[in-house]
Amino acid sequence: MNFNSLKISDRLLKAITDLKFEKLTPIQEKAIPYLIDKNEDLIALAQTGTGKTAAFGIPIVHKIDCDKKYPQAIILSPTRELCLQISKDLIAYSKYFENINITAIYGGSNIQPQIKSIRSGTQIVVGTPGRVKDLINRKVLKLKTIEIVVLDEADEMLNMGFKEDLDAILSETPSNKQTLLFSATMPNEVMKLSKTYMHKFKTIEVASRNEGAKNVDHHYYMVNAKDRYNALRRICDINPKIYGIIFCRTRRDTKNVADKLMNDGYNADALHGDLSQSQRDHVMSKFRNRNIQLLVATDVAARGIDIDNLTHVINYNLPDENEVYVHRSGRTGRAGRKGISIIIAHSREGRKINAIEKMIKQKIFAKNVPTGKDICKIQLMHLIDNIINTEINTEIDQYIPEIENKFKKIKKNDLIKQLLSVEFNRLLSFYKNAKDLDTSKKEKKRKQINSEKTGVAEKGYSRFYINLGKETGIATHNLIGLINERTRNRNIPVGKIDIMKKFSFFEIPNEFKNEILSGFKNYKWHDKKVNVEISKVPKKQSSIKFADRKNKRRKKLGEKSSFKNRYKAFKK
Ligand code: AMP
Repeated sequence: MNFNSLKISDRLLKAITDLKFEKLTPIQEKAIPYLIDKNEDLIALAQTGTGKTAAFGIPIVHKIDCDKKYPQAIILSPTRELCLQISKDLIAYSKYFENINITAIYGGSNIQPQIKSIRSGTQIVVGTPGRVKDLINRKVLKLKTIEIVVLDEADEMLNMGFKEDLDAILSETPSNKQTLLFSATMPNEVMKLSKTYMHKFKTIEVASRNEGAKNVDHHYYMVNAKDRYNALRRICDINPKIYGIIFCRTRRDTKNVADKLMNDGYNADALHGDLSQSQRDHVMSKFRNRNIQLLVATDVAARGIDIDNLTHVINYNLPDENEVYVHRSGRTGRAGRKGISIIIAHSREGRKINAIEKMIKQKIFAKNVPTGKDICKIQLMHLIDNIINTEINTEIDQYIPEIENKFKKIKKNDLIKQLLSVEFNRLLSFYKNAKDLDTSKKEKKRKQINSEKTGVAEKGYSRFYINLGKETGIATHNLIGLINERTRNRNIPVGKIDIMKKFSFFEIPNEFKNEILSGFKNYKWHDKKVNVEISKVPKKQSSIKFADRKNKRRKKLGEKSSFKNRYKAFKK
């Protein structure tokens, strides 16, 4: 659906065209025509990134009477950032309206300009609940003329403890107003709020996966909890151009992770509720200007961050509620760009990942934590690209003869290596001998090795595992020759032999067990260290043995299996 098919004025359409919005997003298709035509209430289940601000903002701008110099619409939102974002969007939609006044009111900043703006005759107020209530109490803000109330991110406002403020504010508004409730999730508290304050309403829901999320790829890395931070570093290092948000569950985690990243030389900073408003603004402006590549944030603090070109969202911890994951991942992959949402998970979170996959209707791909070698290669290429793309500073020209003289004796290849080493040595030494952090890989390997080393031998025989297989060039006759050679005993009768791809099994009568084990000790075959072990009995087999033992005991007791028979036998 195109915007020109809406019943809106040309000046509103022109502003929307200026914003380069071409088609309505799904939520806008459902909400805008309804809100333009009707004065009934609306509940919309939608996250940031779905175009929800325009879904209520365009109808509001359309309905406002600019000649009336009093508040006609109020939008309540949980954070200052969101508040500013919404008012910025409304100002953009109303760009060609002459007498419109939109006022953003929020805590943590000077109240006087806000009072002045309200008194000058504002038609649309966008505010955080605390400051709105404050201005009502000061008798500056009067809501008796309000026609539309928007509760934006209602779930978050309730989470942040604004319930009482909301009650107080809504009680100041006329009962016949139109109420629009937008929420990413619908917990009971939000349902209660809607029951208390809303009349006849339409409910709309855009697929829990938002439009933007179509462009999001989902990956997870399985690590031990203690390796979480190192895995994060590697993920950042393998993506030198990363520009993203790292979500942590608590303020403390947020602070710790950001501090560690900064100490380790990353362009990172923290955004959380313990910061003062001006500190938060400072961090945000650094992030917006890309002076910070990595913003470590809590969910609440990150609300309202409206940046379209994030490359990654990293879930340092998975959120308690799966819907929050949808919300987080929707912060990337916006405005037609591709984005990646990453989960750093530990092995017990597999089920949660499955549940999220179902919810987002998308696969979350398991990825291996990058190895030191992978990272070094990527970083080196990145460094070379940077060198190639750096504009030459002509100031250097004057020193060229001297520089040439200094480099005279060094060959071109050595010079390249030396120059790159200046930048690269730190990283190289950090990742030298770095261990594998990937638990999924380790787990797979463990399972593989276990299955390799298992099997049940013929009666009277021991079954051996040997780490030589088809791939190492061993065949049955080689193996028999090897056994004879290592034991120096040609009379050992070799039983069953199974040659597999990477390993083999052979069976030997029990009495030669020790000869085999000692014969292969410290032995190398074509430079490969040979490992021979008694193969383990797989779990299933041990339970079979256990069942066998039970049956034998039953037989001994002369019964089949009933408790009565066993009791009888016992009494005998
Ligand atoms: P929101 O969900 O309101 O935070 O919007 C997410 C982003 O989508 C913002 O950057 C909007 O400017 C942008 N946007 C909203 N509606 C449209 C549209 N119809 N076409 C293209 N971009 C849009």
